[in-house]
Formats: sequence, C-alpha cells, structure tokens
Amino acid sequence: MGGDAGHTLLREVWGFDSFRPGQEEIVRAVAEGRDVLAVMPTGGGKSLCFQLPALLRDGLTVVISPLIALMRDQVRALTAAGVEAGAYTSANTEEENEALREGLREGRIRLLYLAPERLAQAGTAAALRRWGASAIAVDEAHCVSQWGHDFRPDYLRIGALREALGVPLAAFTATADEETREEIVERLFGGREPKVFLRGFDRPNIHLGFALKDSPRKQVIDYAKRRQGRAGIVYCGTRAKTEVLAQALREAGLEAVAYHAGLEPDARRLAEERFQREDGLIVVATVAFGMGVDKPDIRWVMHADLPKSVEGYYQEIGRAGRDGLPAEALTLYGPEDIRLRRSQIDEGGAPEARKIADHGRLNALLGIAEATGCRRVALLGYFDEAAGPCGACDNCDRPAEVFDATTPARMVLSAALRTEERFGKGHLIDILLGEETDKVRSWRHDQLPTFGVGTEWDRRQWDAIVRQMLGQDLLRPDPGRHGALRLTENARPVLKGEQAVTMRRDVLPPKGKGATRAEPRAMVAEEDQGLLSALKSHRRALAQAQNVPAYVVFTDKT
Ligand code: ADP
Ligand code: MG
Ligand code: ZN
Repeated sequence: MGGDAGHTLLREVWGFDSFRPGQEEIVRAVAEGRDVLAVMPTGGGKSLCFQLPALLRDGLTVVISPLIALMRDQVRALTAAGVEAGAYTSANTEEENEALREGLREGRIRLLYLAPERLAQAGTAAALRRWGASAIAVDEAHCVSQWGHDFRPDYLRIGALREALGVPLAAFTATADEETREEIVERLFGGREPKVFLRGFDRPNIHLGFALKDSPRKQVIDYAKRRQGRAGIVYCGTRAKTEVLAQALREAGLEAVAYHAGLEPDARRLAEERFQREDGLIVVATVAFGMGVDKPDIRWVMHADLPKSVEGYYQEIGRAGRDGLPAEALTLYGPEDIRLRRSQIDEGGAPEARKIADHGRLNALLGIAEATGCRRVALLGYFDEAAGPCGACDNCDRPAEVFDATTPARMVLSAALRTEERFGKGHLIDILLGEETDKVRSWRHDQLPTFGVGTEWDRRQWDAIVRQMLGQDLLRPDPGRHGALRLTENARPVLKGEQAVTMRRDVLPPKGKGATRAEPRAMVAEEDQGLLSALKSHRRALAQAQNVPAYVVFTDKT
C-alpha cells in the first residue's frame, strides 16, 4: 500500500504532519486488508487508524462503536474534513436515514458508523453487502468482553457479521490485559489470529539526547564522524540545508547524500536504494525521507534543526534501531529554531484553533529539549505513558545541573512588561545589565526599576536564560512585531510569586570577565505589586487599543 498516499491524506484531510507512535504500521496493515487487533493508549489516535485506511481502500468501511455521542462526533469531524461519512443509530430521524441510504446506494459514503443494536436487526448484513461493505472496524473492542465493565451484549454479534460479509476486521482498544485480548480474538475473529499491535510508546534501545546548537556544521560533522560506517539520518528544516550539509559531510570524508521532495524522482529512488544497500551511508534529508524506508539497522538519527512537534520528533527518531539493537538520537536546537518554528505556525495560514494546538505541540517538544530530568520520562509523559528514569538519555547519563532561576526569570519578565512588550532580547538584556545605549537613553529605559538589576549574569548567560524562558513558554516572540517578546499566560504565576522557575545551569556559559557593573541593584519587594498592576493595565490598554489577543487574561480578582 502506497505510504505516500497515506501521508498525503494525513496532511490534507486531517491536517497532521506526521503519524503518532504506532499509527503508521497499523494504518498500513488495515489498508492492506489484514485482520488487526491494535491496543493503543487512550488519546493515542486510534480513530485515524481505521478512518484513514477507509479512504485508501475501495468500498465501504463499517465502524462499530458503542456510543451514539462518539459516533456523531467522529462523523461530524470527518464531514468537516470533507469525508463522506454517516452514522446509523436509533437517534436518527427518518429524513437522516433516507439521506444516508441514498448516499450508501450511490456509493458516496466511505465510512458508516453502526450502533451495535443495529446488528440485531434482520437484514443488516444483507444491506451492508449491497452497499459494498469491504471492511469492518470495531472501536472500543473490549466491549465484547464479558468481564469488563463496558460489556455490550450486541458486540457479540460482530463475529457473525464478519463471517457473513467475509471481510477483514480491525479491532481497537486501550485495554491491554491479556485476558481481554484473548476474548477479543475469540469473539471477534472467531479464534483466527489477527495481526496484533501491542506496543507502548517506549523505544528503549534509542538513546535520547539534545544539545544546544552553537556551531551546527561542526557539530553534525563531529557526530557523524564518530559514527562512521554506521547508517544514519540527519534531518534538516530546509531543502537547501540538506544539500549544503551533505556536501560538507562529503568534504569531511564521509559518505553522504541529500534527500528532499524537490529532487527528481530518480535521484530520490537512487538515494533510497543506496541507503538500503550500503552500510554506512548518511542521508541528509527533510522530513520527506522516511515513509518508504524500511531499513532495520539505522543506528543514529540527528536533527540538525528542531522538529515541529513531539509527534514529528518521535516519528523521526523512531526510524532508528528498528532491529532492537542500540541506536542514538541527538537533536540540536537553539533560539533561532524556536523563532523559526513559531513564525511558521503563526504565518502558516491555518485556522486559529490549529495554530494554538500547534504552538502547544511545539511547546511540548521544547519542554523535552529543556527538560532537567529524564528525557524519556518527559517524552512518554506527553503520550500519557508513565515511566521511571531510563538510564539511556543524556540527562540520565549526566544529571543536569539546575538552579532556582525565579529571580532572573522575573527580572526578564519585568523588563519586558515595563517596556510594554515592544522589545527584543538584546534590548531587554541591555536594560538588565544597565547598559546606557542610545536606545536605552532615548526610551528613558535607564529610569526603569529593572535597569541594572541583572549584573550577576553576563550577556551570554542572559542569552541562555532567555532561551530557556522561550523553551518554557514564559515568553514568546510577538508575531506582529519581529523579535519583540511578549509574556504568555505561564508568566503570570511566576510574576505573582506563586511559581518558581527552574533552569539548567550547565547550559549557561561561564561568566565572562569585565562584567558591566560592580554591584547588582536589588529588585525591591514593592516592585512585585507595581509590576502586576502595570501588567494588568497594560494588557487592558493593549487589548482595547489594538484588538490584539492578549496572551495573559486577567480576571477581576487579580
Ligand atoms: P483514541 O481513540 O486512541 O483515544 P483519538 O483517535 O480520539 O484517540 O485521538 C486522540 C487525539 O489525537 C485527537 O485529538 C486526534 O485528533 C489526535 N491525533 C490523532 N492522530 C494524530 C496525529 N498523527 N498527529 C497529531 N494529532 C493526532
Ligand atoms: Mg477512541
Ligand atoms: Zn533518561
């Protein structure tokens, strides 16, 4: 089954850039018409695993789902995405049923949701056959288990329906215990073993690491050199960069090819074939590389640029070590990456709700990048999977040195706020360091209470502090004003003194000589109250004057 078609649908119908853990394999098996039992955590994205294959296959996919509300939600979402789908339930009106039957007769409907009670009606199987049913999907398949508390007697009729139609069946559940699984196999598949997908999200053989991007080209070459002879992928954010980096790697004496969607099909195929065949080839690629690649012994994946989301990150690193042998993933990131990804989201033309969700997915990845504890705990936590420290990530290898950064974080927030969130990092740091630049003087920012309070740190250290604040989503670049930093909702409890901020000290460069001022000025306690009221009135004025969405919303209580 063409993986590219699946990816195109994923993007164009669902608006997702990449599959969630496990989805891709399940989608492929279902699309190929295998009997499938997929156990995936709640929220893991099971619906997509039968909805997308329904569009890849001919004929009608019948979906059995236990709740009318669930069915209606899914039908609504599919319809909104331009997919013809319907639900046949006792809650339908006669007109709805008539319209539905018409769509089914004409073969327009691709997914038909069916309440299990409908299976009890005579003639259901015959009608489904007439309408071209070519697959059955069973959502919440554990409802067939008599011992679980979700038992639905009508689910017991599904096995007979499958036999009557003679079509493949895919069953989905989040309930992983063995007994339930056995019951599902017995009752839905008549004891014939389906292909079982039962995988938590963890890929314990992949060592996880993140590093600050300071000299990217050198970092990539050094990393690749130390892994010479072992197949690896370097993911880049742009097509141009893949070519530049591939060239640089070749000049350093390594075997490397570029790969992106802009290359001729022949060149892409050649790169894929070489990668498959050769032992130590490095492919320097955009995310276009991967779907068709089924190489079990990819030993390392490096991100030369920060991916867009945790899903993207997970999927890309997941290409390493499919043989179960040790593999490594390293991601380089820096403030430029954060800025680039944010602006891609803001300027991407997606609906507002999608932008908010995308910022959230990026935040989650930044949270992992700036994590002070085990990376795997942070990664699996995103997918709601609990884990203990893994012992196979950079933070477990060498615990991050952290410090209470509440005070410097508040200094930055204060400086941003006092200057009405109209300035970028450089100017804010000037204020904190007490630098009397022209810009500081002309705005009279040397009069601010935060002027010169930050000389305990030097400029490069402040850079690292502000970057971590961006990573923790306390600050965001204002999409309307290039480089200007605005406070987010997360900044509020920090300003109010309700929440502490922890940062990594080990990513702060050592303090340089010749710091600007001898003695830091203390930020006085009264400052806090003044700061909050400044924030409040500023936000109101801003929201009123410009009709811009204020990131921080204050209730009257504050
Ligand atoms: P489940 O049925 O496994 O509990 P759902 O199918 O309801 O999960 O999906 C959970 C959420 O994950 C939904 O909001 C869905 O839109 C989202 N989701 C599913 N697949 C992806 C993906 N590939 N990328 C991003 N989000 C996804
Ligand atoms: Mg579900
Ligand atoms: Zn770990």
